[in-house]
Amino acid sequence: MITAAMVRQQAAACGFALAGIAPVGPYADHSAYLDWVQRGLAGRMGYLTDHRAAKRADVRTLLPEARSVLVVGQLYNPPAPYSTAFTDAERGWISRYAWGPDYHDTLRAGLERLVAGLAIHEPFSYKICVDTAPVLERSLARWAGLGWIGKNTCLINQLQGSWFFLGEVIWSLDLPADAPPPDRCGTCTRCIDACPTAALAPRNGRFELDARLCIAYLNIELKGPVPEELREPMGRQLFGCDICQDVCPWNRRAAALPAFDAEIDPPLERLAALTREQFSALFAGTPVERTRYQGFLRNVCIAMGNAGLPRFRAALERLAASGDTVVEEHARWALARL
Ligand code: SF4
Ligand code: SF4
Repeated sequence: MITAAMVRQQAAACGFALAGIAPVGPYADHSAYLDWVQRGLAGRMGYLTDHRAAKRADVRTLLPEARSVLVVGQLYNPPAPYSTAFTDAERGWISRYAWGPDYHDTLRAGLERLVAGLAIHEPFSYKICVDTAPVLERSLARWAGLGWIGKNTCLINQLQGSWFFLGEVIWSLDLPADAPPPDRCGTCTRCIDACPTAALAPRNGRFELDARLCIAYLNIELKGPVPEELREPMGRQLFGCDICQDVCPWNRRAAALPAFDAEIDPPLERLAALTREQFSALFAGTPVERTRYQGFLRNVCIAMGNAGLPRFRAALERLAASGDTVVEEHARWALARL
């Protein structure tokens, strides 16, 4: 028979630094999530607001015979400076998690290995989830004892900080759930104070994210124009935003891992000159592909406008005549700021 200890051992053997067992539901956090959705704080992220929202109440909506959920955390923390120490105005910043290959495939492959290693002991049915399935990933991770949900709304582990990807295996194995750890944010407010767009705010005794204000939403998820009043606070963040994690004291203890083979702060002039084909080749297989070419050039325009360097004028003038109305409008906005 498969035990929780065997699961943990197998998870470690498959490269997962964190592993725990969560119950199947229903989850008390679900009503807060629905309330967040209903108040429009998810912005235009349809995958969070459509019919899948109801499914997140209980993982048995995805696997009726489920009896528990394995939650794993895979660390990513290349040994490089934090974005809060980044001052070079000629360069833009790409979020830490996106410096390497897209994690969805590698994490899923690790979970497939984990399941195969356990299945030799006992047959069971399962469903692997990595980010895209309708489950409350952070809540599950908290229930599985992996960490608490901090005021920056990230899951934080007391020993490892918050630089990790989450994955789950919903399965028919009836394993005892772990206990959620206590909230260790205390009186700290560093993430709230550091957020450039004031996207984090208290509500009913917990902090929540207004995604519509979050830079990681604006420069990844939002297609089309970025609201003008939010462009300046975006600074030179080209893809995602790490600020509220960079300032978190719990990340001072995070273990450094081998570097990804990628440029973390590419020169803006080079990026502004990328053709569609060069963009695809440069970011193939990385999360940055998600912005698509138009969104990426839009972000480059915003970063150049915020850098304010007169030498960016020629590149921005080219983008202002690129034939893409969204890119052109952002280039004109940036030119007006030089
Ligand atoms: S990711 Fe950036 S913009 Fe979003 S809440 Fe954190 S600091 Fe604010
Ligand atoms: S910066 Fe402080 S308040 Fe914010 S998540 Fe970290 S410990 Fe919590």
